[in-house]
Amino acid sequence: ETLTRFGRRPEYLLQMLIALQEHENWLPPEALTALAAALDLPRARVEGVVGFYSFLHAEPVGQYRLLFSDNIIDRMCGSEALMARLCHSLWLAPGQVSEDGLASVDVTSCTGLGDQGPAMLVNGRAIAALNEDRIDIICELIRQKLALDAWPVELFQFENTIQQRDALLSCTALPGDALRAAIAMGRDAWLSQMQASRLRGRGGAGFTTAVKWLACRDAPTVEKIVVCNADEGEPGTFKDRVLLDAHADLVFEGMTLAAWAVGARRGFLYLRGEYLNLRPALEATLARRRAEGWLGASIGGVAGFDFDIEIHLGAGAYVCGEETALLESLEGKRGTPRIRPPFPVTHGYLGLPTVVNNVETLAKCCLIALHGGAAFAATGTAQSAGTKLLSVSGDCARPGIYEFPFGVTVRQVLDACGASDTLAVQVGGAAGITLAPYEFGRRVAFEDVPTAGAFMVFNDTRDMFEVAHNFVRFFAHESCGFCTPCRVGTSLLAGTLDKLAEGKGSPADLLEIEDLDRLLKQASHCGLGSAAPNPVIDGLQKFRPAYERHLMHADFSPAFDLDGALRRARQITGRDDAGAHLPQQPEASR
Ligand code: SF4
Repeated sequence: ETLTRFGRRPEYLLQMLIALQEHENWLPPEALTALAAALDLPRARVEGVVGFYSFLHAEPVGQYRLLFSDNIIDRMCGSEALMARLCHSLWLAPGQVSEDGLASVDVTSCTGLGDQGPAMLVNGRAIAALNEDRIDIICELIRQKLALDAWPVELFQFENTIQQRDALLSCTALPGDALRAAIAMGRDAWLSQMQASRLRGRGGAGFTTAVKWLACRDAPTVEKIVVCNADEGEPGTFKDRVLLDAHADLVFEGMTLAAWAVGARRGFLYLRGEYLNLRPALEATLARRRAEGWLGASIGGVAGFDFDIEIHLGAGAYVCGEETALLESLEGKRGTPRIRPPFPVTHGYLGLPTVVNNVETLAKCCLIALHGGAAFAATGTAQSAGTKLLSVSGDCARPGIYEFPFGVTVRQVLDACGASDTLAVQVGGAAGITLAPYEFGRRVAFEDVPTAGAFMVFNDTRDMFEVAHNFVRFFAHESCGFCTPCRVGTSLLAGTLDKLAEGKGSPADLLEIEDLDRLLKQASHCGLGSAAPNPVIDGLQKFRPAYERHLMHADFSPAFDLDGALRRARQITGRDDAGAHLPQQPEASR
């Protein structure tokens, strides 16, 4: 059945595995063997893919797989106590499958519901706003062995908490309006408008969108691809979730505008597995757009303008938000970031020229088509045109989505969301920057504080060591393991913070963190590894007392005597001169 649905195409391997698991609840060895044979792939390749994605299971799991979102914001909302309540109620321990095989409970990285946490996934479907009552209801439904489709629908509903609208979120254009305008301009004039807009990518890196599109259009291969990166995995980010739910037409229309510019016929929306709930509505929107003539053959009545979009699901791998890792995943492989160059604009999906743009970036293209590039560039700052969506969560009265022109200060955002006694703001997620109160006058913009959208607020009752500890554990969990500095470095970093959390740290451990920062920054293959120490390094600079509180003693030195350990070697060699001893190091350099 799976093969009939996807064809014998290896690039659909991940989608096949997801579909198979939906059916079987896990991926039995014989199914993997059959799939490998049908696709003419080595079985090790299939197993390698299964092993890479945390939502795929090569071992039996509970009939109900419960995964609590482990973002620091979920923890601040009480997720640990709720997980303990659920485990107690179901006689389960985290990480285990119940003896009757009914349920398994564990944690997962941020599920993108920071505005209404704590949240969890049940067999991949998100449930937000957890509280004791909801946990008790969930336990009862599980005990009754009720199929997920028969659970109360309101459990799976969540809100689009839009708190402040600007140009994008107040856009009332009808499906096709932006496309009609771009088609009327012609391809070249449309690209000129994109250049005039100075639109930069909203996924974090901030690359100029028109430059990407031009490079793809000019690549010699005829077949081109458009990919929408909806793998919004940065802890604390959820603005793409809201856009996909409330403004899916703008996103799909933006993809079609990109296809018009570069001459693409195929498009993919790569949807993070955590947003499985959104898929039925997204498929329905695609079907409607096909029926209206805004997807498919001769779009807008233009002969030869043929373009359609498929939705591909991710399966719980943060690194797939990196565009080359995402392309590997789209090709049905492990999501290991590629070596660049070549860049995706010339060698992307299956080696074809590919533009990969973020959800928000693509939605913004509609504004440019509707109102022109100059109007778009009229707001924002010199290097950051337009508006930015911020996902605001944490210690504030009104968490949710805020749209501000670039250049808004951190303090203005804090005032808008009703934050008080703020100790710190984490802008840009775990990989971003930790701002202390003396920096709240800084501006959200590529030239000052860049961000993909996460804006996490911590008041003065919070322990910034705990915040960094959560982020570092996240990176250790999400390291794809491809390169040793990141695989080992993130684990060592997490281990060092574990040690501090247990109150067993020493000043030497704080110096060790700085060494690991250098290693990870210099030797990691992709941005995940190089960004992993950011929250700790920022924390040490701006909130050092929070770290020093965790030291056993301020002048504690490691008990291990390295020179003493060489005593036996000196005996064997008969040496006891100065050269056979380690030089005494000053305290600060240890
Ligand atoms: Fe994978 Fe980390 Fe290396 Fe990136 S830096 S390729 S996430 S191991």
